[in-house]
Amino acid sequence: MATENAENNSFFLSVQRNFEKAARHTIFDRGILDQIKACNSILRIKFPVKIGEDVEVIEAYRVQHSHHKLPCKGGIRFSMEVDQEEVMALAALMTYKCAIVNVPFGGGKGGIKIDTKKYTVFELEKITRRYTSELCKKNFIGPGIDVPAPDYGTSAREMSWIVDTYSSLFPNDINAQACVTGKPISQGGVRGRTEATGLGVFFGVREACSFKEDMEKIGLTAGISGKRIIVQGLGNVGYHTAKYFQDAGATLVGLIEFDGAIYDENGLDVDAVQAHRKATGSILNYAGAVSMSDPAQGLEKPCDILIPAALESVIDKNNAERIQARIIGEAANGPLTSEADEILQSKGVMVIPDIYLNAGGVTVSYFEWLKSLSHVRYGRLEKRFSENMYKELIDIIESTTEKQVSKLERKMILRGPDEIDLVHSGLEDTMIGAYREIRDIYMAEPGVEDLRTAAFICAINKIGVAYQELGIFP
Ligand code: GLU
Repeated sequence: MATENAENNSFFLSVQRNFEKAARHTIFDRGILDQIKACNSILRIKFPVKIGEDVEVIEAYRVQHSHHKLPCKGGIRFSMEVDQEEVMALAALMTYKCAIVNVPFGGGKGGIKIDTKKYTVFELEKITRRYTSELCKKNFIGPGIDVPAPDYGTSAREMSWIVDTYSSLFPNDINAQACVTGKPISQGGVRGRTEATGLGVFFGVREACSFKEDMEKIGLTAGISGKRIIVQGLGNVGYHTAKYFQDAGATLVGLIEFDGAIYDENGLDVDAVQAHRKATGSILNYAGAVSMSDPAQGLEKPCDILIPAALESVIDKNNAERIQARIIGEAANGPLTSEADEILQSKGVMVIPDIYLNAGGVTVSYFEWLKSLSHVRYGRLEKRFSENMYKELIDIIESTTEKQVSKLERKMILRGPDEIDLVHSGLEDTMIGAYREIRDIYMAEPGVEDLRTAAFICAINKIGVAYQELGIFP
């Protein structure tokens, strides 16, 4: 587990090792590769916040990994595990992630080293606002510079404090709302951002499972329906991932939280488990399921697909051998150490890598950023126009065929797109397209052993070309 600094160091090294494994398959000079790899700017700050009668010194970071495209983009996490190495690793992953899904941003990441449970909402607001004003002072936030978003321990609430602080410091900036994404709808957010990462994970795994020949290689049939799934982490990403799989006919056999795991081979209902958790404070002792007080045990239970959706390094060299899943979908950032990756590889497990699979969040963040810059809701201009066109089309069909379409058919066809429809379909298209790009590299490139290496090659190729075309200052 990522509790010690040394292991976080290895998280950053893991990312660098994965990069190098892929770099061998690209054509770029060493200098360009080193520039792609490097963290461009690192901000480490300490600031005082009055908590009760005392003053507390808060440690925080913002790392801009790459400036080959601007703004930099990536979440802000609130956690006691935050340190410079962790934020650097996460910022680097953001760069590769954005390139893979063709989102025109450089990678960034922020972190505040706090235990959110120790503070009241008012205190968290004070910390977030002070952090934002520090970012403003140092030029580490802005619609064209660096655009944060939610991550582990943060949500739309924190984003609304950030946008409000930024806007009050730059009242004349007409694009101020684009300084952060993952905002509440009332503050300029986009519909579909909350569930975006989980939905993207679902679209990505569904796409991977749609190739019959790939599934046969790992002893599975194509499709999602009937697959046994375990999800680790019932936060925003894990909950939505579990829900989409369940709705698509998969059997949710296991759920894991920080205080334990539950397993039922007949299937769990994620909403009923959430209700039980709300009532009792824990997912443990859910009716009909086996409870395990050690969460790590839950990862090792029988299933087809394991989705780690919490923190990094949860599968390492100590437990990788015991993992029974045939597919691991990395909803979290860096859930496998590089040693675990190798062990799973030798067991023939298909690992769908984080830098592709959890890119749904930043993809919809991109849609939100565009919305904030354009100052108009998606669908506002075309919805009525589309409905009128469809109506005319139905009228023509009816008059030429002399047949009436049913009321239900008419209702279905006449619907122009709302914001949520456009966001979901844009996300679906992005996830499908990116998977195919990665798979094509994996199939075509000799010596590429896994999807992660293929995904890194895909990212390096795009960023390398961007650097070459950008030109480097003499
Ligand atoms: N925190 C998310 C991630 O790690 C989203 C980042 C964003 O939307 O900018 O991908």
